[in-house]
Amino acid sequence: KLDLGSHSMQPDELDKLGLIFNKMIGKLEKNFHRQHQFIADASHELRTPLTIIESYASLLKRWARNDPAVREEAVEAIYSESIRLKGLVKSLLTLAEGQEAPLHSETFSFLPLVQGITSSLQQTYGRVIEVDTDQTEIWLVADVEKMKQLLIILLDNALKYSEQKVEIFIEERADQVRFTIQDYGIGIREQDLPYLFERFYRVDQARSRKTGGTGLGLSIAKRIVDQHKGTIEVNSRLNEGTRICVQLPKHQG
Ligand code: ADP
Repeated sequence: KLDLGSHSMQPDELDKLGLIFNKMIGKLEKNFHRQHQFIADASHELRTPLTIIESYASLLKRWARNDPAVREEAVEAIYSESIRLKGLVKSLLTLAEGQEAPLHSETFSFLPLVQGITSSLQQTYGRVIEVDTDQTEIWLVADVEKMKQLLIILLDNALKYSEQKVEIFIEERADQVRFTIQDYGIGIREQDLPYLFERFYRVDQARSRKTGGTGLGLSIAKRIVDQHKGTIEVNSRLNEGTRICVQLPKHQG
């Protein structure tokens, strides 16, 4: 028996306490491991574009000055890898902000926001995004900047991983807004689906690098949806296409 002043502990109470401590330590260890993994993955991701920039800069310095073709290739690579690096740092900062970063919720009209984003993405990609809805106006209380980010991540993926049109269908159901983004692209294998929302997860490293992916987009999307107490669901068939459905409460809290 352990004497704790006025209260003495019974062996079974001690056992229980031991179990609780063990559980807590297990959790801490797991968190520590995850943090460590995150830093390792982030460093690895940052190194790749930096190495490319470094080697092209060295090429420029040493010989490319008098060779216009090599010069052009080097400048192009440095430019595109810098953009990639910038995007990566931005995504890492978003993730590092932490789940507790407060939402700046305000009331806004959802459809014009979607229209604005789709038309600018259509311009960038030169592709069609069909917007379809059964509503004329939907008011939403949410963090506008985060909603923009969420839509951009999902629509951008749909465009990146398909070559045909992309559709977004928006519905209002009771106190929920639901939007479904459908593409008819390369799709995702069933065995990859459970890992899509993990940080740095990419179905195919080579393919993703070609499209400038970082494997962070969907984990940020999931975080935004969670913060708004919504749900996000992926349905996909390899070589047929992907459908992502997001459901959000119209009012927070
Ligand atoms: P990335 O920056 O690599 O696109 P994401 O986190 O946004 O990272 O997505 C993770 C992976 O999921 C991608 O690398 C890609 O393989 C797959 N993926 C995401 N969206 C789609 C889609 N619409 N169609 C096919 N594959 C997709």
